[in-house]
Amino acid sequence: MTTYQLGYIIEAYPSLVFVPVGAKRHGFRSIGSKEDQANVTRLQHAATQAFNELTADEIELLTSFLKTDELRLPVPVLGNDEAFPTLVRPEQFLWEEMSAPIPIVQDSFYPKEYAKLSAIQLASHVKSVVKDFIFCAKLSKQSRETWLEQMREAFDQHPFIQLAQAKRPIVHAVEALNKSSLLGVLNYPEDISYWRHRVGVVMRPYRHITPEWRYTMCEHDKELATDNETLVCTCYECDYGITYDLDENRVYLPFEVDMPQAIKRIATIERQFNTIAEQSPKVITALRELRELHDFLKPYEEKLVTILTLQQEANTNSDHPAVVAYQAIDSIRLPNEEIEPTLVSLQHVYLPDVAVLKKVSTWLTLDERTLLEELEQVEDTLRKSVEANRPKPDDILFSRKGFSITRVEVESIQQLVSMEPMEISSYQLVQALKGNPSNKIRTLGLHQSALFGRLHDWPEKYITKLVQSIM
Ligand SMILES: [Zn+2]
Repeated sequence: MTTYQLGYIIEAYPSLVFVPVGAKRHGFRSIGSKEDQANVTRLQHAATQAFNELTADEIELLTSFLKTDELRLPVPVLGNDEAFPTLVRPEQFLWEEMSAPIPIVQDSFYPKEYAKLSAIQLASHVKSVVKDFIFCAKLSKQSRETWLEQMREAFDQHPFIQLAQAKRPIVHAVEALNKSSLLGVLNYPEDISYWRHRVGVVMRPYRHITPEWRYTMCEHDKELATDNETLVCTCYECDYGITYDLDENRVYLPFEVDMPQAIKRIATIERQFNTIAEQSPKVITALRELRELHDFLKPYEEKLVTILTLQQEANTNSDHPAVVAYQAIDSIRLPNEEIEPTLVSLQHVYLPDVAVLKKVSTWLTLDERTLLEELEQVEDTLRKSVEANRPKPDDILFSRKGFSITRVEVESIQQLVSMEPMEISSYQLVQALKGNPSNKIRTLGLHQSALFGRLHDWPEKYITKLVQSIM
């Protein structure tokens, strides 16, 4: 028996190399049981058969991949000279230095137990395992990073990704408009509902690609695995993956798209929407008027913002049409350029309340000559209202049947209660305000407070109510 970098060689099995698996490296002498010997002999036979079909290039690939002198199929063995029931996957020997022994993890091994296969089944299993090894041998010629880079380039070249990149503004516009409140006011409802139905169909392949991958591969760490002589690249963060064909240097998406159809459909969906928009000239006019109104109010913006702030402080609303209009259009977004009845232009319209479309023409009748003066009057009235509502020290905060207390007195009680480290219960506070001394009140020093007996003429139940309302 010869010891190898990869494992052990036994002369009786010239097409095999025995690779230790399990928790720790162990010595290996021979195949122990008669039964295992018979199964390994069958493997030796199947491996020789599979190797006979390889080309010179494939032989070279495989021996240099496994760093063996001859063609050899790795066969996993356990510590007590026992054969492991399944074959090891070639990814175990790929890119990184092989860790010996190979840990027993499900993904590292083929699921088929070779002892249970018939001669024909075994021959075909070993043949496909050898194929996988040759595929991994090809992969090992380049680093993992180089493959990923190559895949990223192939992804950019994928016809659907190229279409998505080229049509990115349209895809974006369709998605934005499909959620827009404008659809509720455009003519005609049946055209709109047909268009939305088509959007569902046309956008399906775009929506199927997770946003991080829609125009280029995501930047997260990825897992590479092999599947049937292709490389499968998965991002677990995005829960998305693609398949890469080495020979074709081509990427396959999880759902491949009918390209001529996709190209036609994205153009149709844009054209259909433009037709709908052209059918609603009133809406387009109202939107243009909103732009006009926005520009008209621009010079008054500072004054209007001040008025809105004062409105909040005074807790009241002015009904001056300029204030109402400014409030309404403040939450609206419109395109910077002239508004056109097109998908590309209308995607930039954001209209939380479509009712403004009906009101805008009235707002446009505001008189420029008197507006500033009117707004100053509104501001003045609001300032007076804010002033009148401002809290004053002698505001009555609590009153019951002729017993009342002012803001400044309530504040001094609150101050006393919040003093650290004094912990006063509601009951003690009531007693102190009433002027009833107790041991506890003396201990706390409350009997010396200016508030002691302050409400001595109040019925105790009113003091209790007061304390409940301020504590
Ligand atoms: Zn990702």
